[in-house]
Amino acid sequence: MLQMKLTGEERAVIKILQEAGLLHCMDRQHFINEKKEDVVIVSCSDGRQFLRGIAIPFMKMYDETKEIAFHPLTRHGGTLILGENSPLVPQGSTMVEDLVREFDEAVKWGYGVCCLIGHIPCGKAREHEIHPLHVVDSIMASKRTLKKQQGENVSIACFLQIADGGAWRDIFRIPYTDYLSWRDIHTDTVIDKMIEEMKPSCE
Ligand SMILES: [Zn+2]
Repeated sequence: MLQMKLTGEERAVIKILQEAGLLHCMDRQHFINEKKEDVVIVSCSDGRQFLRGIAIPFMKMYDETKEIAFHPLTRHGGTLILGENSPLVPQGSTMVEDLVREFDEAVKWGYGVCCLIGHIPCGKAREHEIHPLHVVDSIMASKRTLKKQQGENVSIACFLQIADGGAWRDIFRIPYTDYLSWRDIHTDTVIDKMIEEMKPSCE
């Protein structure tokens, strides 16, 4: 089947994020949607993950009342499109503007919360040889881009879905400011050195 196992590099990045305390469980205490606002989801449309691995568990966690509306804005690669200098965006393409416009429309329609969900492994990230940590960076960059127009009218939260073949999958919330502060110190060079040291135990 189409399921993808995590690589050693991906496992190492996940372990680094876990050990830094950046992967928060999606339990009730992290329920950001206390006002029961309707939710826009920006994520990858990956058929291996979107319905069973992202949308359905996400709705279960959020929507005890079954009254919240979920509006998926899915693209191949999801938040990777809004990452800085994204290789997923061909020259002359309007895909970034299109996604931002659809998001702004949804907010105008009354969606008050946005959940940005990146995932590892992502087929598009692998196709373009995007570093697994840059997948997470793209979630944060997407928040900045989407806040530009309708920023005052929407709360945006960042999530990372992780799947290891068909064996295991979960979704975690990553606090935006905590991640950026951590990333200030943990540059690409620092991270790559950590990955090299961890890789033998992650293969
Ligand atoms: Zn993907």
